[in-house]
Amino acid sequence: MRLVLLGPPGSGKGTQARWLQERCGLVHISTGDILRDAVRQNTPLGQLARPYMEQGRYVPDEVVNGIIAERFRRSDRPEHFVLDGYPRTRPQAEALDAILAEVGLPLDHAILLNVPDEEIVQRIAGRRSCPHCGAIYHIPRHPPQRNQQCDYCGTALIQRADDREEAIRQRLRVYQATAPEVVGYYQQQGKVLEMNGLGEPETIFARLRQALASGKTLST
Ligand code: AMP
Repeated sequence: MRLVLLGPPGSGKGTQARWLQERCGLVHISTGDILRDAVRQNTPLGQLARPYMEQGRYVPDEVVNGIIAERFRRSDRPEHFVLDGYPRTRPQAEALDAILAEVGLPLDHAILLNVPDEEIVQRIAGRRSCPHCGAIYHIPRHPPQRNQQCDYCGTALIQRADDREEAIRQRLRVYQATAPEVVGYYQQQGKVLEMNGLGEPETIFARLRQALASGKTLST
């Protein structure tokens, strides 16, 4: 199975993608995680991406397209994967199709998680993540077992710089400006599975598996 996850920041893409990896064996590829790693390690990519990320803006298409193309041109490219946070613009969607055609691994579905704006702001403001293993928590909805420490690896949890309210609203504006062109692109291909993203993450995961099993797509 080859999937992309679409939806606003905070719609639960990261959690669902992690579970698709742990429970269904798909390789989880998150451009946000790759870029955050690069920023942490202060690589040339990280230095380029940091100002965009801190302001809640998109990193230029050619940069993220380069990351993804490099990943799929490697000989250890995954055959079954879920992309989280990519593509976010139509040029990215086109670049992804081109690289996947080149390696003979076309997408099966684009999953769209729908969540209203106010719910997003509440969710992101409470979000804490593990800088070491990427696990995601929410205060107060899904707190870690020990105060501010990751349940998996014990690392101190952080709030991402781009999860502050000002940056969240900016990220929502950017998402709303570019999402329709990406969703429309996949609708034309008959690949969109649209899902209600409200509710417990486990409930959404059950919905997602059901949708994938029935394979019902929305056409244009
Ligand atoms: P995310 O964790 O997916 O919300 O990504 C965090 C930030 O990384 C975004 O707000 C962007 O600044 C940057 N980023 C991640 N993926 C992309 C992408 N596909 N295109 C442009 N910027 C991206």
